[in-house]
Amino acid sequence: MAPLHPLAKRYALSFGVRHLYVHVPFCQRRCSYCDFSIAVRKRIPAQEYVEAVLRELDLIMESSTQVRESGDGIETLYLGGGTPSLLPAEAITVLLHELALRFRIPHSAFRTDVEVTLEANPEDVTPDHATAWRRAGVNRVSLGAQSFDDRVLKWMHRSHDATRIGDAVQTLRTAGFDNISLDLIFALPTELERDWARDLDLAGDLSPAHLSLYGLTVEERTPLARWISRGATSAADDERYAEEYLLAHGRLADRGYHFYEVSNAARDGRRSRHNSAYWSGRAYLGLGPAAHSFDGRVRRWNRSAWEGYRRAVGAGLPAVEAEEVLTEEQRELESLYLALRTDAGLAVTDLYRPLPPSTAQWVSRGWAELRNQRLVCRPEGWLRLDALIRDLTGVGRES
Ligand code: SF4
Repeated sequence: MAPLHPLAKRYALSFGVRHLYVHVPFCQRRCSYCDFSIAVRKRIPAQEYVEAVLRELDLIMESSTQVRESGDGIETLYLGGGTPSLLPAEAITVLLHELALRFRIPHSAFRTDVEVTLEANPEDVTPDHATAWRRAGVNRVSLGAQSFDDRVLKWMHRSHDATRIGDAVQTLRTAGFDNISLDLIFALPTELERDWARDLDLAGDLSPAHLSLYGLTVEERTPLARWISRGATSAADDERYAEEYLLAHGRLADRGYHFYEVSNAARDGRRSRHNSAYWSGRAYLGLGPAAHSFDGRVRRWNRSAWEGYRRAVGAGLPAVEAEEVLTEEQRELESLYLALRTDAGLAVTDLYRPLPPSTAQWVSRGWAELRNQRLVCRPEGWLRLDALIRDLTGVGRES
């Protein structure tokens, strides 16, 4: 075996993997609001991609006994993107099979105990793909629905139309998927006249186990930012953002959904186990271009450009581009944010100072509640999370 590259030693991980994220960077076009690190490709270099990701994992395993011995400690695997559903089904099958081999777990574990999520665009969900994904071990699909209004989908540069969403859900169910999540985006520009209540109802009619709702944000260097800068459109104001957010809480609660995190609602306890691990500050390993890893103290991220990533791992170099070591203060702040984002809330005893008197106002206004020595946000509190953190910590408050 060739000696380890000094950088591989430097970036050696010291935790057993329980949560694994694999980033698939390819998309067929860029959505109008998206600033993710993606590679727009007509032809997906599937074989090169799978080889590169497995090579990255091999390099990590060479330098880390803990990762090598993770074994059946793996609880969740998330294929996110980009558009993982653009990978041919055979490539997904090979990837999952090889991951199982490397972690020395039976491939069947990916079908049962391990939560295996695939992000998919509705137009990629065909009966053949869905059946192959299920056979490969995927047991949860997160569909990028975004809206049920064709005009809005066109504006977003999405490549599906509204009818494809229902068809995709039906096709997935026929293939045996009962854990389906839909993503929707709210707070769109006013002139689109998007009927948010209708979209929520149509999403609810499909009875997905899970829904993720994201408010539109304007990111630099996106088509949306350009449209706004030349006055062709404008972002929704805070008032409408709040109205739509609260409307979603009401509408979805009526259908039995429970918001267990700021942006995520589930029925029948079908929470995302993978994302819940992020929100509880657990360690995770990310593979693929732009993927992040975290061990509880150090956050690392991979080179984001697909070609640069592929060349690096091909040359036996770590894919890591940079890392950030969180200070004690940053870790405390981050754990406050994470705790308050979820319905578990913050254990008052975890605060390093007494609750400030303003907390009583948060409670009396119905923005938060104190339950079993935990401070738990209500939807109105989630809309004001930054202000609550400022109150609790004094950080960011003007003197
Ligand atoms: S499909 Fe997702 S990752 Fe790809 S461009 Fe659209 S929003 Fe971005």
